[in-house]
Amino acid sequence: MSSAVVVEDLRKTYGTVRAVGGVSFTVEHGEIFALLGPNGAGKTTTMEILEGFRTRDGGHVDVLGLDPGDRSTARILRERIGLVLQDIAVEPYLTVRETIARNAGYYPAPRDVDEVIGLVDLAGQEKKKVRTLSGGQKRRLDLALGMIGNPSLLFLDEPTTGFDPNARRGAWQLVRNLRDAGTTILLTTHYMEEAQELADRVAVISDGQIVAEGTPTTLGGRDTARARIRFAL
Ligand code: ATP
Repeated sequence: MSSAVVVEDLRKTYGTVRAVGGVSFTVEHGEIFALLGPNGAGKTTTMEILEGFRTRDGGHVDVLGLDPGDRSTARILRERIGLVLQDIAVEPYLTVRETIARNAGYYPAPRDVDEVIGLVDLAGQEKKKVRTLSGGQKRRLDLALGMIGNPSLLFLDEPTTGFDPNARRGAWQLVRNLRDAGTTILLTTHYMEEAQELADRVAVISDGQIVAEGTPTTLGGRDTARARIRFAL
């Protein structure tokens, strides 16, 4: 089977700012792949191009066999990928269950609402109004909304920013559960620990370029790669 995501020589500039300067990587089906880099490295720009929200200046991009820049297939792609972005807007006066059930209605073959509530560990909280959720619970609701369409590929943008260490570990386990349930996951993070603990493979991005790539073991084991990661972060 072909890779879930293929990015080759991706380029994007904003005016005179080079945000992405020739990035290449592939994400295989069934893995957790982390794009690790500091603020301003080009992670969000890369992800937004893959999600079809932003145009590219050059390079080749393939997401589940489709080009996210092709408007004629945008709807098909939107139904097949799940997105967990920063600051997802939700109705504050709906309950957790109502919010997830409403989003389920947007997809042709959604997952079961109760199954998803269980997967993201919100069982027992489903009658709570969204406005009363803690930050960690809200982020788990975001994950539920990313999962409800039963995507085979999930994009997670900085999934644990703002979490305390315990909540972060809980979220990592949730993401592993999703991977083990068959979902391919591409995430961005600026936490080296998150990439090393969670990802099957990591690409380190700095100043719009990939400066190291490998498994957490090979990256952590090679002095040169480690030095490059430290430099990048
Ligand atoms: P962060 O973690 O802070 O979101 P990032 O790794 O996601 O950073 P990008 O947001 O992709 O990085 O930004 C890459 C570069 O492009 C930065 O120099 C940023 O200032 C610039 N940039 C991003 N979006 C725009 C825009 N809409 N207009 C102009 N410059 C932008």
